[in-house]
Amino acid sequence: MGAAYHILVRGTVQGVGFRPFVYRLADAYYLKGWVLNGEGGVELWLEGARAGLEAFVRDLETNPPPAASITEVSVVETEPEGFTDFTIRHSERRNHPTTRISPDLPVCEACLAELRDPSDRRHGYPYINCTDCGPRYSIITGLPYDRPLTTMRDWTLCKDCAREYHDPLNRRFHAQPVACPVCGPHYALRRGEHVIRGDAEAVLEASRLLSEGSLLAVKGLGGYHLACDARNADAVKTLRERKFRKEKAFAVMVKDVGVAWSTVDLSPEAEVLLVGTARPIVLAPARLDLPEVAPNNRDLGVMLPYTPLHHLLFDAGAPEVLVMTSANRSSEPIAYRDDEAWERLAGIADAFLVGERPIARRVDDSVIKVSVFGSQILRRARGYAPSAVTTLPITQPLLAVGADLKSSVTLVVEGQAFVSQHLGDLAHFGALKAFRETITDLMQMYDVNLKDTVVVHDLHPDYRSTQVALELPAKKHVAVQHHRAHVASVLAERQAWDERVLGVAFDGTGYGDASVIWGGEFFVGSVREGFERVAHLRPAKLPGGDAAAKWPVQAAAGYLSELETPDLSAPPFNFPKRYDQAKQLVDTNLQTFTTTSIGRLFDTVAALLGFTREMSFEGQAAGWLEHLAHNLQAVDPYPLPFEAGQLDYRPMLSALIQERARGKSIADLASAFHEGLAQGTSNAVLKLCEAHQVKVVVLSGGVFQNDHLSGRLRTLLERSELTVWTAHRAPPNDGGISLGQVALGWAKAGL
Ligand code: ZN
Ligand code: ZN
Ligand code: FE
Repeated sequence: MGAAYHILVRGTVQGVGFRPFVYRLADAYYLKGWVLNGEGGVELWLEGARAGLEAFVRDLETNPPPAASITEVSVVETEPEGFTDFTIRHSERRNHPTTRISPDLPVCEACLAELRDPSDRRHGYPYINCTDCGPRYSIITGLPYDRPLTTMRDWTLCKDCAREYHDPLNRRFHAQPVACPVCGPHYALRRGEHVIRGDAEAVLEASRLLSEGSLLAVKGLGGYHLACDARNADAVKTLRERKFRKEKAFAVMVKDVGVAWSTVDLSPEAEVLLVGTARPIVLAPARLDLPEVAPNNRDLGVMLPYTPLHHLLFDAGAPEVLVMTSANRSSEPIAYRDDEAWERLAGIADAFLVGERPIARRVDDSVIKVSVFGSQILRRARGYAPSAVTTLPITQPLLAVGADLKSSVTLVVEGQAFVSQHLGDLAHFGALKAFRETITDLMQMYDVNLKDTVVVHDLHPDYRSTQVALELPAKKHVAVQHHRAHVASVLAERQAWDERVLGVAFDGTGYGDASVIWGGEFFVGSVREGFERVAHLRPAKLPGGDAAAKWPVQAAAGYLSELETPDLSAPPFNFPKRYDQAKQLVDTNLQTFTTTSIGRLFDTVAALLGFTREMSFEGQAAGWLEHLAHNLQAVDPYPLPFEAGQLDYRPMLSALIQERARGKSIADLASAFHEGLAQGTSNAVLKLCEAHQVKVVVLSGGVFQNDHLSGRLRTLLERSELTVWTAHRAPPNDGGISLGQVALGWAKAGL
């Protein structure tokens, strides 16, 4: 007589072809029993020869479906019940469905081969997919993941598709979005009143228009893109003008890995990210000179085609490097509804390549890079959301609403922390709407009631996210300070709840403990016991509030107010009038705040080196400084002394002004500033770690997206015995705040 195993598999195992995979594996080893999508994961009952059972478990662990991500396999040996076949049982529903929703997947190799095979019935069909690939999160309207709860519910399967869907040995067994040219949705090309129907005809005309230099709106997986030939400077320029995007870099989509190699310098790690199932935009040093695409930028964002439609466009002769940018104006979230896209993009796109399958929710492209500390996700959206980032030891639900600028929300259900996609800047109506929808969406999908939920928000009373959070009829509201959340986010992804660390949080601005604007903070403590602020940047004045984040000279007026400075309206500084106006605010103490922000220190330095105009996007001046410093070897640093718990930037700024007046190159100055900041910070870190007896340093906050600074800091800290932790699974910028908030909110609420 054989043996029996009762197995529970946890992780991303729903909607990724897991049950058909298990069915085929059981079939191969002559095992009987059943498989079931339970709420805590996939449950299996297997009976048969012991060797077969062992082989099954081995294959399950070593060779799961490509898109599955298994976090746990628990096997309990039990008594055989004498099953005579292997069946897929219907899903059970008891409590909260905690089986994870899979992110969207790129088209797989098998589907791609069929797409290009003229004898296949799905030849050239833009909606081809199977259990290993295709849309998930962007089409799901509810759980469990079944066709009636997707945006495919209006298309009835034809006979052939139905046969595949119901055949356990078929690659399309229970592939919810399965479709074919006979029964499924189609694409069309619209140009004014003129419509071209037929997938092949529409795609061919679209690629012709792209080759000619036209701007195209293309409906994709999680929203619309604006596309044009990246090598055509005129086309890119037109796109910038029509999109009101003056300087911020555009990402490109390249035909294949070969073209990616000739476009950017890819490290082996970067290539792994580029071809991975998330198919993000990967930032890497540009190799190709593409004027207008990424001005004043060392890096270029590159991604590979991920939908069948993208491949069809390139196959039909579209230019090999396409600008592919989220279709929106300035920093609004990506457009995803057809009527909305029509309205918003009418004056931008020359033509629309539109598919019929509705998009259930907007999901932007993700952005990632390989930093000196390993992979660093900068925008977490398509391909990653809404997968769980970490597990907390709690059963009660917790919702965190993040920060306002790079909004994301995190919902913890049965201990699993699901981090939403990037939602944009809540100052924009569209983003605020997406933010509210995402909260409702996650609560509904995981069947969580607000009255049972602890809601965590930022300490800032004027944040829109705070205001929305306080309106929610929650069980309890908890406020968490911004920079402590930055530090906690890094600890949360490591589940390091009790580790005592030195947390360094450097960013633009966040609300501090005493109505002071923070952004250069050092903390000691742990998630469990909380963080005590032990040091910070010397406080500076900041005139004019929010506008100071847009005008480097305005920040400069505050930071320079305690120094002796020459006449900065004269060359080489040429500060505009705005500087004098801001200075007057400081002198009269009107509309002037106190800040410890490192981000504004970067802005001040950028102003002194010549960036005296208004920034056209967030972080632009700091990015410009990094770019200036990047190619230089270490130079003599400017002094940044650390005394009495404060990093004093005054000697640094004085030295910089003197050398600039003497005519030293701005690249040298930028480099000496970075070096000074790195040495001053590492000096402070070493002293604080010794004084407080900690061995682990956490670096978090938007400033650590600066690779030049991080690289120098890493080298300096490597000489010590300290361990350095940084963000990998959630962004170091404000996109990671909601994750940090759940960790600290949990500790504070005493759950
Ligand atoms: Zn496939
Ligand atoms: Zn069909
Ligand atoms: Fe921040």
